[in-house]
Amino acid sequence: MTLNQNKLRLGISTCLLGEKVRYDGGHKLDAWIKNTLGQFTTFVPVCPEFECGMSIPRPAMHLEGTKENPQLIQTLSKLNLTKQMKNWIKLQIKKLKSQDLDGYIFKTRSPSCGLSNIKIFSPLSKLVSTEGVGLYAKQFTQAFPFIPVTDEEKLHDPKYREHFIELIFIMKRWRELILQKKSLRNLMIFHTKHKLVIMSHSVSHSKEFEKILIKNPKDCAKLYQIYHQKLVEVLRLHTTIKKHGKVLQYALSYCKSHLTADEKKEIQSILDQYQNDVLPLMVPITRINLYAKKYQIEYLLEQYYFNPPLLS
Ligand code: SF4
Repeated sequence: MTLNQNKLRLGISTCLLGEKVRYDGGHKLDAWIKNTLGQFTTFVPVCPEFECGMSIPRPAMHLEGTKENPQLIQTLSKLNLTKQMKNWIKLQIKKLKSQDLDGYIFKTRSPSCGLSNIKIFSPLSKLVSTEGVGLYAKQFTQAFPFIPVTDEEKLHDPKYREHFIELIFIMKRWRELILQKKSLRNLMIFHTKHKLVIMSHSVSHSKEFEKILIKNPKDCAKLYQIYHQKLVEVLRLHTTIKKHGKVLQYALSYCKSHLTADEKKEIQSILDQYQNDVLPLMVPITRINLYAKKYQIEYLLEQYYFNPPLLS
């Protein structure tokens, strides 16, 4: 992938890109998101509070009421801004439908953008819950249940970041797939190239994909819809060393007949060390990829599993 072509499309809380849109007139630049992820991404920045008509700077706000129906309230004046925000959200969700987003990065701890653990207060400013969700983030995730979402803090955790990056690149390839003519053949090609990635999230679920594809319904639109739902469901499951170990052994079965005795010994030792958490996943992946290239094993060469996006 070149840096300027075929970029990811990610929605993002505007302040994370360094724009001074926060209530205090400041920003919350996240340098990794802007400078590293940004090389591969066209961002679609959204600041719900500013874009719904509030000023910069503006009085501080918080969520008040119940978890089920929190209100956006100015902390000191007690002005209720829920209606203003919700009216804007309705229009914004419609606008975003045409944006083809591959993922969304929200700002933590915001009564508008926060994805989780947002504080909710009583009218007397007593803490009643720490399990709120920002008004905009909540509506977004309900309207777009298949778009991967995260926040900037989770992206600081390397394991979580790796998972999110994998998801958004797959969603980008899905977006590119559905731009082509819908056909069983095109879907099969997509599935074959992602087979090991899918297996690394769930071997048992990966068998369900074959059933979906073998059924071969005439209605391609329906087939794509079912496949997409299943894909998102499986990719949300976290990978583990054990799951990767099974995938690597499966991949190795495609090369074993080509390998020399020394190569067999070497890869087995690498796999053992990976499974004992001594070596990182990239070591067996790189080594099996080398064998696939050396012995021209097409099935493995076309697997995205062996070509993960390297930007963390
Ligand atoms: S957290 Fe959301 S609402 Fe607050 S400044 Fe950032 S983008 Fe705007």
